[in-house]
Amino acid sequence: MNFKEYIRVIENFPQPGISFKDITTLLQNGPVYKEVINDLARRLKDVEIDCVAGPEARGFVIGAPLAVALGVGFVPIRKSGKLPGETIEADYALEYGKDKLAMHKDAIAPGQRVLIADDLLATGGTIATSINLVKQLGGTVAGAAFLIELAELNGREKLGNIDIISLVTY
Ligand code: AMP
Repeated sequence: MNFKEYIRVIENFPQPGISFKDITTLLQNGPVYKEVINDLARRLKDVEIDCVAGPEARGFVIGAPLAVALGVGFVPIRKSGKLPGETIEADYALEYGKDKLAMHKDAIAPGQRVLIADDLLATGGTIATSINLVKQLGGTVAGAAFLIELAELNGREKLGNIDIISLVTY
C-alpha cells in the first residue's frame, strides 16, 4: 500500500522552514491505519521483543497498536512531569524545540528487549533520548520502528548500531 498518499504535508508548520508530515489524514482511514500497524508487525515478526516503548504523543498512536499486534506490553515515554510514579529523565532536542523525556523506573526490567516506536524519524534526537532511557533501566534496544523517515536529516546515524525500519521515506 502507498501510505504516502494518505499523509498530508503542511509547509512551514509549526515554524518557517519545517515541512510537517501530518499523519492525522492517514489515521482517519481505518483500513489504512490498520495496514500500517500490520505492515510494521510483519516486518518485526522474527525480532525478539518483550515490549514496545513510544514517546508521546504520536509514538503512542503507532506504538500502542503495534504492541497489541505483537502481543506484548506498551511503555509510554512522556514529557517531564506527566508520569505519576518514580521516573528517570533525559534531556533532548528535536527538529523544532527542546524538552525532557521521562519513563517510569519500573517500566522495564533489566534484560528486557524493547522496541522503540514513533510516527516519524527526523533528527533522531527523540529516539536517541528514548534509547538512553531504556538503557538506563538496563533494557536492550531490540530496534526502532517508524511510519515515516526524513532521510536527509540522517537520524539513523544518531541511533548507532540498531535495526531501524520505516514504511515511508521523504
Ligand atoms: P526527531 O527527534 O528530530 O527525530 O523528531 C522526531 C519527533 O518530532 C517525532 O516524534 C515527530 O512526531 C516530530 N517531528 C519532527 N519533525 C517532524 C516533521 N517534519 N513532521 C512531523 N513531525 C515531525
